[in-house]
Amino acid sequence: MVVQKFGGTSVADPEAIRRLIEIVRTARTRDGRGPVVVVSAMSKVTDALLAIASTAAAGRTGEALQRVDELRERHAAAVRALVSGPAQTPLLAHIAGQLDQLADIVRALAVLREVSPRTLDVVAAMGELLSSRVVAAALTEAGVAADWVDARCAVITNNEHTSANPLGPETAAALRNTVMPILDGGRVAVLGGFVGATVEGHTTTLGRGGSDYSGAIVGAGIAAREIQIWTDVDGMLTADPRVIASPRLIAQLSFAEAAELAYFGAKVLHPSTILPAVERNIPVRILNSWKPDAAGTLITAQSAGTGARLTGLASKKDVTVIDITSTRMLMAYGFLRRVFEVFERFRTAVDMVTTSEVSVSVTVDDRRNLDAIVQALSEFSEVSIEGELALLCAVGDSLQGEPEIAARVVSVLEEVPLKMISQAASRRNITVVLPQSDLPHAMQRLHQEFFT
Ligand code: ADP
Ligand code: ASP
Ligand code: MG
Repeated sequence: MVVQKFGGTSVADPEAIRRLIEIVRTARTRDGRGPVVVVSAMSKVTDALLAIASTAAAGRTGEALQRVDELRERHAAAVRALVSGPAQTPLLAHIAGQLDQLADIVRALAVLREVSPRTLDVVAAMGELLSSRVVAAALTEAGVAADWVDARCAVITNNEHTSANPLGPETAAALRNTVMPILDGGRVAVLGGFVGATVEGHTTTLGRGGSDYSGAIVGAGIAAREIQIWTDVDGMLTADPRVIASPRLIAQLSFAEAAELAYFGAKVLHPSTILPAVERNIPVRILNSWKPDAAGTLITAQSAGTGARLTGLASKKDVTVIDITSTRMLMAYGFLRRVFEVFERFRTAVDMVTTSEVSVSVTVDDRRNLDAIVQALSEFSEVSIEGELALLCAVGDSLQGEPEIAARVVSVLEEVPLKMISQAASRRNITVVLPQSDLPHAMQRLHQEFFT
């Protein structure tokens, strides 16, 4: 059985949902069972919900309520187009009820003038909770018997609101109680991605783009044969198509390569998605919902053996480098511990690290606690920061056996002022930090060298 996750553009409107229905029908015919369908919010709905929360908290109630009505109309229109039988009236009533609740929250936020992470999760989760109801009803109407599953009863997480992580045993048990009976009853199970709840039942979300993660969590929980990520591109591409005009499709890559590309900016896959798949060794396939018959990208434990080629490029913008210098670091052990304790204390992830005898440079993309971090580091070192930088990452398992690839990467970039260069012992990527303004040109040069 497979888990099929559909992203926002793949459930954007009635036409997209009709394509989804045929994809689900095909999987069901092929496997004779399932599938489990995990859906994102309709495209742009999560952005709209977050904007509603902040507009409300800024006291602009009228504006926020107007956006609530736009969401009401968009979901109701999808229901009217897809569900005409007896299910239509109760579903429209349910949607109206949910959006009335959202309007109540808007008024409350306008009084309080602040949004707590816990409230933000209740608001953000509405997109997936609504889209999944619509998709379940549309499937059933089209003759593919489907039941809706409340993701808050299926994915149990810790209480890190807005970027929660699943609790393994609790989620496995919850999936056994919610999803499995539906599959055993010969029906399709449909749930919203991105959403979960704590053990106490408080709604959580898994971080932006987190529906992919939900797909993998569910796939691991029910020991799926394959986790499919249905999206709006042909698969994992050799570079971000918004940066490089015609990147190539990567037909196959390893979990480790995919994790690097996703972590360093290949938005097509949420970086946490790979872990549950690795733990249960479940292949992940990225597919285009506009071209259901195309092969897409297959991600498995084995690498594809690309010879002297790289697998792909990824990049992250708005990166900040923090340069930490201390003459006392010379020969001193314990210095790095003190440095990283500061990042731990301020819950800020470091992406890349390079060191010299007396200095350590790290990159971060989360600037929320930057001032406090600089202050804390300044207590035992000299600190300088530089912004408007980008991180460019060249990934390939082939880097392990073909040392000249690394040399080619750096020499292709000879005209670009590189701020940092790193290659870890796993030798699966070479990452450089460069001025953001040089990124498009650097990407083009590398892509041309390795992929055209
Ligand atoms: P979904 O809503 O289906 O989850 P996303 O917008 O999150 O879709 O991710 C798909 C998008 O990721 C593509 O439209 C593409 O612009 C972008 N993207 C960035 N890097 C890559 C890459 N290396 N390969 C494929 N797509 C990429
Ligand atoms: N709807 C959520 C977001 O836009 C999750 C997802 O689509 O993966 O971030
Ligand atoms: Mg996505």
